[in-house]
Amino acid sequence: MVGRTPGPLVIGSGIAGLYVALRCRELGLRPTIVTKARLEESNTRYAQGGIAAAIGPDDSPARHLADTVRAGAGLVDVAAARVLTREAPARMADLVRYGVPFDTAEGRITLGREAAHSRSRLLHAGGDATGYSIEETLKRKVLDAGIEARERTSLRGLRPGGKAGPVAVLSATGGGPTELEPPRPVVLATGGVGSLYLQSSNPSVATGEGVAIAFRTGAIVTDMEFVQFHPTAFAQEGAPRFLITEAMRGEGAILRNADGVRFMPKVHPDAELAPRDVVARAIQQEIDRSGRPYVFLDATELPRDLLFARFPSVSNFLLAHGVDPSRQMIPVAPVAHYMIGGVTTDLEGRTTVPGLFAVGEVASTGVHGANRLGSNSLVEGLVFGERVARRLSEPAAGGPTEPPQVLSVRPVEGRGEPEGRSRFEEIRSRLWEDVGIVRSEAKLRPALEWFEEVGRAAEPATPRAEAGPVANAALTASLVARAALARTESRGAHFRSDFPRPRAVWQHHLGIRLLLSGRRRS
Ligand SMILES: Cc1cc2nc3c(=O)[nH]c(=O)nc-3n(C[C@H](O)[C@H](O)[C@H](O)COP(=O)(O)OP(=O)(O)OC[C@H]3O[C@@H](n4cnc5c(N)ncnc54)[C@H](O)[C@@H]3O)c2cc1C
Repeated sequence: MVGRTPGPLVIGSGIAGLYVALRCRELGLRPTIVTKARLEESNTRYAQGGIAAAIGPDDSPARHLADTVRAGAGLVDVAAARVLTREAPARMADLVRYGVPFDTAEGRITLGREAAHSRSRLLHAGGDATGYSIEETLKRKVLDAGIEARERTSLRGLRPGGKAGPVAVLSATGGGPTELEPPRPVVLATGGVGSLYLQSSNPSVATGEGVAIAFRTGAIVTDMEFVQFHPTAFAQEGAPRFLITEAMRGEGAILRNADGVRFMPKVHPDAELAPRDVVARAIQQEIDRSGRPYVFLDATELPRDLLFARFPSVSNFLLAHGVDPSRQMIPVAPVAHYMIGGVTTDLEGRTTVPGLFAVGEVASTGVHGANRLGSNSLVEGLVFGERVARRLSEPAAGGPTEPPQVLSVRPVEGRGEPEGRSRFEEIRSRLWEDVGIVRSEAKLRPALEWFEEVGRAAEPATPRAEAGPVANAALTASLVARAALARTESRGAHFRSDFPRPRAVWQHHLGIRLLLSGRRRS
């Protein structure tokens, strides 16, 4: 029986948003989905490698936990990772129940392997079309369930709405008059920030707006310095930066430099299956050394049948761009891929703002530490999505504890100047150049000052009012740069050439919050 009171407003329609909405409906709530493009447009749709869960006979949640903790470079919140790894198998059962067509052999789900997983534990569907299959299945279920879904509508801002939750300010994507939603719980499922970087694997919807809006509303954000760069995206001039899944290296593809020499065995004992940050930096070093904007991924030793059966999307994409992966080497380079940090939440998705929840890539539970284990992000949206739905159906007070160190930032006095597309592109270039794979104070400080100046021009003249895409982009970029500047060490996905090693004093999460009236600077 579906209740009459308004259910949550779910912002975003990737795996996290669609799943939360479906589960809310099953638990008797009336959710509404708001999403800025078409329902299916999301990072989720492009996920290739798989979704991780310990369902194999030689695997266990404890092993999955150990791998997650190891990958996270000392910063994984173990309680969050325990929840993730314990509850992942049950969430896979939900996906099967919803009809996700996972690949099987002899009636059993087949499991793939990726870097830093000690067991084969990646469920996949349609070979490397895992995200597409999940997104399409969940979308169909949402539509079948009659859940209201407002496409091409963007969240622009949040205003205080009292006990019931915030007032959401919405408008047609790209402009138009604003509409105010009556106060109700708001679930941010707005995904990552990848496409704020010039070189990115993410679709254009992934601009970190949820982070900017939540921060402006007073939510603490955590771990913003940890942006994961994926080592291998297609790097042919003029072609899209299509991701070449790590699972291909898992099957035996190797990396060669511009001279055709395999280089990873000298860099790390796990060679091509070393952690993503190690592989990404090694490739970047080769690129800097050779002056060619790519290295090669060599899959020519893999049987052609296997390549096309296991990686149909990648193989067909490559063929369409003139590269036959069974016979030719693939030019690849690193790209911005995944935002590890985001809006601080507890294990039930509650942020530090009452009535505001966050789940999926936009959220920061600490589950990934300083470096995400591949294929742990799709499953994160389900595991914490389930917890958000349950919490919404049985409201109770609570919220996350503050991270050990929180930087307080004064709000800028915005000038509300008209925004231009070129500014947006400049932010993307600057983020890639100065807050990218290898960072240093010499680049981070001027970049931060520049993002803040762009923010001052673009932020609305009225504090905490709704902002446009450039103001949001500048704010999110400044949060990444500020955190990267503050963390004077290298750890996981964050590498500082001026502090190239981890430091014990930094073995903690770093939060940032806006200094709203009445708060003292910390
Ligand atoms: C190419 C690629 C391959 C990947 N491969 C894998 C993999 O194999 N395994 C794995 O686990 N992870 C993988 N990832 C990461 C994973 O896909 C994402 O982390 C995950 O899908 C995020 O899900 P989400 O629901 O949080 O966000 P998304 O799927 O990104 O959805 C965000 C939604 O929010 C909407 N939105 C954003 N801002 C607003 C706004 N202001 N108003 C309204 N709507 C808004 C967007 O339109 C979108 O619908 C991959 C990512 C990419 C890009």
